[in-house]
Amino acid sequence: MAKPALTIPTEPIGSIPRPAFLIERIAKCDSDDPSLAPLYEDAVRDTVARLEATGSPVVTDGEQRKYQNFATYCVHGLANTAPDGFTISFRDGHTRRLPRLTRGPFRYRRYADSYLDLAMRYAHRPVKQAVIAPSALSLMYPAAPIRDYSREQFIDDLLREHETDIRRCLKKGAHKVQVDFTEGRLAVKVDPSGHLLNSFIDLNNLALSRFSPEQRRRIGVHTCPGNDFDSTHSADVDYAQLLPSLFELKAGNFYIALAGERDAPHVLKIIRAYLKPDQRAFIGVTAPVDPRVETAEEVRDRVLEAAEYIPLEQLGTTDDCGFSPFCDDTSTSRDTAFAKIRARVLGTQLAAALIGGRA
Ligand SMILES: [Zn+2]
Repeated sequence: MAKPALTIPTEPIGSIPRPAFLIERIAKCDSDDPSLAPLYEDAVRDTVARLEATGSPVVTDGEQRKYQNFATYCVHGLANTAPDGFTISFRDGHTRRLPRLTRGPFRYRRYADSYLDLAMRYAHRPVKQAVIAPSALSLMYPAAPIRDYSREQFIDDLLREHETDIRRCLKKGAHKVQVDFTEGRLAVKVDPSGHLLNSFIDLNNLALSRFSPEQRRRIGVHTCPGNDFDSTHSADVDYAQLLPSLFELKAGNFYIALAGERDAPHVLKIIRAYLKPDQRAFIGVTAPVDPRVETAEEVRDRVLEAAEYIPLEQLGTTDDCGFSPFCDDTSTSRDTAFAKIRARVLGTQLAAALIGGRA
């Protein structure tokens, strides 16, 4: 019997730049305006179709409806928040702010499985869904305690809401549920002692340990140095300070930005040393912060390099990040995003064919 062809799994991170017509409209009206619904639907349908046309075996809704971004989709519009929360500073000088919680109790306003519904209606391939990590939202609780709502009560509520977010996506049949953890690397920048990172890891593990080993095989964690207007927030933090702790997270999959790193072998050696046997590393082979479209051959060579360090049965590929984690980021065009994804898919196939031929 012929040996089945070797395949290396490849998945997108999540976001695809929104079409211009959608960005123009949401700049003028509220995200909940019912007149936006048909525009969102058009954007999701077109995004899923174009993702499938790249050959991508797993698709997303491109986060077209994650208003305003990957982190606050679930709390946007809550009455008990103010806009002056934690500030994220990017290398080019621009900033983004999280909302601040003004009173309890903390509840999500929407869960990510609502996005899955629409994407699955149009998709012919498995759909994955990204959710935000509790560590990111934990930054919403102010430094001075809220009267009658302690930080402990907040953390209880936050963990329960996050768990619900994941469970609902798993139940709807998400291929993977990816926990976005961009604040992991940022935590080392903010606090080089590593205390903040370790508190984030502990917090996220409190949630992840509520899932069975079988469920965790469908749960992943994404790490990157940030990506907004082609700028990063923590690319200068050495992965050696992050990855050993990262792989302590009780998740089966890790989506690790690598294409934008200066020294890939250095990072691959750390992954090899700390990746656990029941974990898979999806390494970034395209860089959304770089306007240049990678060739399939470049991607192939990155996969071949990674395969020298990571066992094949634990290797996958991805993009370094979503292509527009914030909905008003127009620094990358949709055409560029899909071209990069096509290169990722083709390059991964080229590498798998080469490695399979050698075996
Ligand atoms: Zn990212």
